[in-house]
Amino acid sequence: MTEKLFRKDPYMKEFKATVTGINNDRVTLDRTAFFPFSGGQAGDTGEVGRCRVTNTVYEGDEIVHILENCLINKMDKVHCELDWERRYTIMKLHSAAHIVYNFFVRKWGEQKLIGSNISESKARLDFEMDRNIADSLPEIEGDVNRFIAEGHVITTREEPGGLRLWECETIKMPCGGTHVKSTSEINGISLKRKNIGSGKERIEVTLC
Ligand SMILES: [Zn+2]
Repeated sequence: MTEKLFRKDPYMKEFKATVTGINNDRVTLDRTAFFPFSGGQAGDTGEVGRCRVTNTVYEGDEIVHILENCLINKMDKVHCELDWERRYTIMKLHSAAHIVYNFFVRKWGEQKLIGSNISESKARLDFEMDRNIADSLPEIEGDVNRFIAEGHVITTREEPGGLRLWECETIKMPCGGTHVKSTSEINGISLKRKNIGSGKERIEVTLC
């Protein structure tokens, strides 16, 4: 199985690896810092051996890099590089989404989360709810931005049994994604409500 370098160091931007398998444009490596799409977090893009990686996904337990034009061979030693600005933005948005979720729950109580997604442009949280939350967003946004400015440490670790846990101050959430080390890296966020049909409320999180 591929060694997950993004677990040890989510800030790893480049690395060397050996190609362990090729299936058309789908490539596996012995080790990778490319995060595969999971838990709502977008898969990484970048380069593997000078070939463009358009997405990274799980196929079963295996991490697969999808190449635009595969010009490498099995057992090749390749230099790999992430689209770092994109991934770093995603890390900030993913950490921010957890904090927004927490302050949302402090305001509205536990609500059923029916979807979440983190891309390089925004994070979104979808709740099953019957009331319009628009009026509460400036308050939640203020709470989140104050908390972010306080510079709280963020950690991720694996619990016995394999569950990964995200922690920041008193907030704890299960999460397998990649995150920044401190809320101060996020700088600030803004929130917007989106209408996605009756009985559903969407919050979109963008970086300032
Ligand atoms: Zn998460």
